[in-house]
Amino acid sequence: MMKRGIAILGVLVLLTFVGRSATAQDSDKMPTAPTSKSTTTFVACGKLIAAADQPAIDGGDVIITSGKITAVGHGLTAPAGAQQEDLSKYTCIPGLIDAHIHIWTGPRGKYPSLPLATIRATKAMAYALDSGVVAARVLGSGGFVDVALKDAIEEGTIPGPHLIPAAHAISIPGGHGDFYDFPPDLTPENYYTPENGFINSPADAEAAVHWQLKYGARVIKILASGGVLSPLDSPLAEQVSPEELKVIVEQAHAAHVKVAAHDENLPTIWAALHAGVDSIEHGAGLDKDAANYMKDHGVYLTPTLYIANNIVENGPKMHMADYAIRKANLIWQGELQGFKAALSTGVKIAAGSDQSYEPGKGTVRDEIMTDVRFGATPQQALFFGTKASADLLGLDDVGAIAVGKEGDIVATEGNPLEDIHALEKVRAVIVKGEPVPAANRY
Ligand SMILES: [Zn+2]
Repeated sequence: MMKRGIAILGVLVLLTFVGRSATAQDSDKMPTAPTSKSTTTFVACGKLIAAADQPAIDGGDVIITSGKITAVGHGLTAPAGAQQEDLSKYTCIPGLIDAHIHIWTGPRGKYPSLPLATIRATKAMAYALDSGVVAARVLGSGGFVDVALKDAIEEGTIPGPHLIPAAHAISIPGGHGDFYDFPPDLTPENYYTPENGFINSPADAEAAVHWQLKYGARVIKILASGGVLSPLDSPLAEQVSPEELKVIVEQAHAAHVKVAAHDENLPTIWAALHAGVDSIEHGAGLDKDAANYMKDHGVYLTPTLYIANNIVENGPKMHMADYAIRKANLIWQGELQGFKAALSTGVKIAAGSDQSYEPGKGTVRDEIMTDVRFGATPQQALFFGTKASADLLGLDDVGAIAVGKEGDIVATEGNPLEDIHALEKVRAVIVKGEPVPAANRY
């Protein structure tokens, strides 16, 4: 099965290469990114929240020229010939940023071909944009689909948010990254490779990082502990060894790439922190001592309260597998405790939905609303999903509506700083000065 997959990938690579050399002499026919358009957009907002840590102002206007914000203020005049966007019934907020996503490629448990998976994934990218998400960190996917999407979005071939791809998450065989539950006589040797993210030693760990980086990863994801949606393991298990964690962080940091560690128990949180990771994902079991360490060392927490809470409350209704419901119940209180410890300690927090952007399903808006439900103020939660996530992703030109930043605006009915559920009512999304068609808004 995998041999065929690799062969298909080989053909694709060849086709891409041929395609590139054929068009190289005719570069004016290459697709152009939306930013290269020389247009001016004048956006009139009812209220404007230019940054999550600032109050809403009445009647703010924004001018976007060639994709970048060139003026923000009250009572601005529309430049001659500008395209006008009347959002005066709404509150304008910065584009949202999801610090932890995966990529929807069709129904869970089915294995589409890589080309079919990629074509479906383009829908997930359009849905992310329609939901107001202008940037996302993809923390684990197969077949380098996230890198392909990033390239296609950047060259203007498909619409989508800025992506920071991790390619394959690094896992032990039988760990949180292992979804192959057939018996040992069917084990495919070529599935369990460092290129596919699987490691059995520090040497494998080093190779796994190199392969992800070679094929375009811009962040490294380690599955340090077990998880919820994988069929074979326990979230209480420690999986990647401290030596392997150290090698992974060393190699990633040598390439100036950050490391995100999936951790669902305290021993693996400490092992990851001592190895020097840049963010702890989920963070079940995080206590006050570990939170203090994170604050002192500037390590981010990406809590993922929405997905865990949603499985606990609605898992049976959503026909989730019994093991997933059992494991979500096992970690939920620990995740809540970790979030509260981080919040009260002042740990930097980013908003991550852990969603795959299946059209119509959960987004970072749900995570932001869930953070408020469990103790954050609306201002804090909106900050997690804009400025904080932008900082964690290393993206300077998103996260706020300010001169020099990318011209991204989300219009909500109601002021989310007063009632965070205004995020359920996104009425328009403007990306780089261009309105996004409401294809999949919910
Ligand atoms: Zn995840």
